[in-house]
Amino acid sequence: MDIFDNKILCNKCGKEMKKVLVTKNGFNLRAVKCEKCNETIYHPADLKEYEEFIRLKQKEFNVKMRMVGNSYAVSIPREMVDFMKEQEKMINNFVKMCFEEKGKISLKFNLPEKKTRVLGFKEAKVIKNGKPIFLARKVYDSANPKLNKTELYKNDEE
Ligand SMILES: [Zn+2]
Repeated sequence: MDIFDNKILCNKCGKEMKKVLVTKNGFNLRAVKCEKCNETIYHPADLKEYEEFIRLKQKEFNVKMRMVGNSYAVSIPREMVDFMKEQEKMINNFVKMCFEEKGKISLKFNLPEKKTRVLGFKEAKVIKNGKPIFLARKVYDSANPKLNKTELYKNDEE
């Protein structure tokens, strides 16, 4: 059982605290907050994770560039990858890389969206000589990626 499932009273004014979500550096921390005196208590598990992030954030890693074919490769320290994996359970193998400023390159990891369901439906027509010859229907549901599909129909309405 999660301690946050219980009623938590503010130790300063005795008022029942309200569940809130506090966003810090991209982390969503579960917390309870007293509306009267603003006393905030973070969920211990979320706080532990966030503190681990801060610890890693303050650390500077020296990694070496290696020539691989025509590109340079750098290794991402195990500690960083392990932390991300622990948080997200899985990370995509593709990262986005871009120049941020002079002498600074940033990497963006494709972390799966949490609890955000994206539904999409798209229709496209292939037109030839002013007439639609093909219809394409694309169905997308982030919660059921197995059901994602694109269907192609030949247009018979002539
Ligand atoms: Zn209070």
